[in-house]
Amino acid sequence: MKLLKQSVMWFGVCCLLMVGLNVSAEEKKKVWGKDRSITQITDSVYRFGSDGQYGAYILTSEGIILVDGHYCQSNTTQWLKSELDKRYDVPVKYVVLSHDHQDHICHTDIFNDTAITVGHRNLLPHILREKRDSAVPSVLFNDEMDIVLGGVKVVLMFFGPTHSDNLIQVHIPEEKVLIAIDMAKGKSIFPDYRDMEVNNTLEVLKKLANLPDVDIVLPGHGPVKTQQNFIENGNYIKALRDGVLDLMVEGKSLDEIRKLIKLENFDDFKHKERWFDTNIVTMYHYLYRYREPNNRITPEEATECRDTRNCRTSGEINI
Ligand SMILES: [Zn+2]
Repeated sequence: MKLLKQSVMWFGVCCLLMVGLNVSAEEKKKVWGKDRSITQITDSVYRFGSDGQYGAYILTSEGIILVDGHYCQSNTTQWLKSELDKRYDVPVKYVVLSHDHQDHICHTDIFNDTAITVGHRNLLPHILREKRDSAVPSVLFNDEMDIVLGGVKVVLMFFGPTHSDNLIQVHIPEEKVLIAIDMAKGKSIFPDYRDMEVNNTLEVLKKLANLPDVDIVLPGHGPVKTQQNFIENGNYIKALRDGVLDLMVEGKSLDEIRKLIKLENFDDFKHKERWFDTNIVTMYHYLYRYREPNNRITPEEATECRDTRNCRTSGEINI
């Protein structure tokens, strides 16, 4: 039951596909989309969302550039389409997908009648393989791409694998807005690091914290932020990475590390109590792929590691 509940909460907090998951009675009662809203941020940039999750759009005289859809269950993407039709006499010309996670892009195909869908080159195989309920991108880019519409320049940037291997940042430099879906986490943590490239994420958080022409940061979850959020989140990830790595080098097993590491300086981070253990476990497995201990593992230890996941990473052994 505990695992079941954790899975449901994980879905709510972050961003991966969990179709077919059994849900708790509490979650079944949830009424989605009650608090749908559209908020103007700057001259051209608007934020939309519900249920604590947000996308954005850029309104120009020649059309709209939409960034992301929403949760499948909320139907907020469909609501947004009707609102855009009511409010404006220009169509959605581009749908930009921040990354492939289902909860941020669901139902974006309803804009296919007027829009071209854009994303990072790595996005497409995920969309196809996982059969995402999403528009399928027809324009793909590698490192950076500009969309200029109605005199407004929108810069799409890819800094390498981070939260996923296809997450991009969307910058509107003239209005000093950065749309940083699932990157602007601030004092909130992810449930796990299964598909995060941790080392590069730390580098990219530094770049985003120092990116010029940014006054306002729009995250995919929670309130509007500033660039300070990148520093706060990076401090936590770095402390976790370094703490787990130090204990691995000392030869501590995963079970020992789970008991030893505390990071009490970050107790004010949202969801820390709930997700700290899975943070440790998945950080351990991430780091495991980056190092070779001095002493080779014995066949018996390999079997134990396989069967119990209690894997020795270093230290003395007797052969
Ligand atoms: Zn995500």
